[in-house]
Amino acid sequence: MMIPYGRQDITEDDVQAVTSVLRSDFLTQGRKIPEFENALASYAGAKHCVAVNSATSALHVACLALELGPGDTLWTSPLTFVASANCALYCGAKVDFVDVDLESYNICVASLREKLEASEKTGSLPKALVVVHLRGEPADLREIRGLSRQYGFAVIEDAAHAIGARYQQETIGSCKYSDITVFSFHPVKIVTTAEGGAALTNDKRLADRMRLFRSHGITRNDDQFQGQAEGSWYYEQIELGLNYRLTDLQAALGLSQLSRIDRYVARRHELSDRYDELLESLPLVLPKNDPENHSALHLYVIRVGNGSAETRARVFEALRADGIGANVHYIPVHYHPHYRRMGFKKGDFPRSETYYETAITIPLFFGLTFEQQDFVVGSLARAAATFL
Ligand SMILES: *Cc1c(COP(=O)(O)O)cnc(C)c1O
Repeated sequence: MMIPYGRQDITEDDVQAVTSVLRSDFLTQGRKIPEFENALASYAGAKHCVAVNSATSALHVACLALELGPGDTLWTSPLTFVASANCALYCGAKVDFVDVDLESYNICVASLREKLEASEKTGSLPKALVVVHLRGEPADLREIRGLSRQYGFAVIEDAAHAIGARYQQETIGSCKYSDITVFSFHPVKIVTTAEGGAALTNDKRLADRMRLFRSHGITRNDDQFQGQAEGSWYYEQIELGLNYRLTDLQAALGLSQLSRIDRYVARRHELSDRYDELLESLPLVLPKNDPENHSALHLYVIRVGNGSAETRARVFEALRADGIGANVHYIPVHYHPHYRRMGFKKGDFPRSETYYETAITIPLFFGLTFEQQDFVVGSLARAAATFL
């Protein structure tokens, strides 16, 4: 059996929570959705929460709510899942990237500042920036918010890796330094609803718009009607929305999982600290986390020291041959053929590319045992002795 890099934790309570919805009147659009949304909002410390069927959908409704469209540009990090960039393309907007720094692997604030200065001169400032908290380690939100106010762009936090994290003293999801924060509840993430996501905000207008786009652009709110209500059956479609709704089955699972989030993150810290010690003597670059933050530790990414793409591939394949589900997060978004067709090429974002050539994600999840972890370390030590 392969040891995966990430895996859900499902308890008897989770099973009970889901089956009780199955026996109830509403499988979707029932009471579990607002219950889950309220629990998320209160955990994160945001005023509003809109649950949707994936983080990809959450990013899309976030961009729609911010009125991204043709002629606009969204910037993000090249080191992310493609969804962080695709959300702009769905709206007919363009995408560009800001390189990362090689300490945190998050957006480099100095590069962002430089790119903003240059773009101001050419009249090509972005309308929004998707800030990715890669591995669960918060990006430099205070600096980024400062630049967002100075240059007038919106900030969307892609916190798919970072539920349960804190930036300095601030819980990720509070939106203290952003307009909207997005979570993912895919099974490899920290808490799961199978598929699912959420968008949080403190801005009621944005929350209302995201709710509208989640469900066809239809409203039953008479203060949003453009015509006259003709009876209590009446509703209006006032925008072109989608069906991005989460089900009550999923919301019940999410609620049950959310009650264990602090335990989940604590176990990730325990395992990550243990990796730090056990791997210290190997010729690897171990992950760095700012002690002022509390990372959610979604991923444990090592880099093969002075490695080349070939050495990384050898170490990776050795881990796989031992039954370890190593992974790579991520192939830089601008490398993908869909983005190359827009003109991006190798060499555009050199630090992201250097990272990519040497990075390997090793297993880290709630249910990982010390024995499994020792096995991963042993396998890595053998690969390092052979190839490094
Ligand atoms: C997983 C992930 C997403 C997409 O989440 P889904 O819920 O699968 O749509 C977006 N961004 C990042 C950084 C992710 O890791």
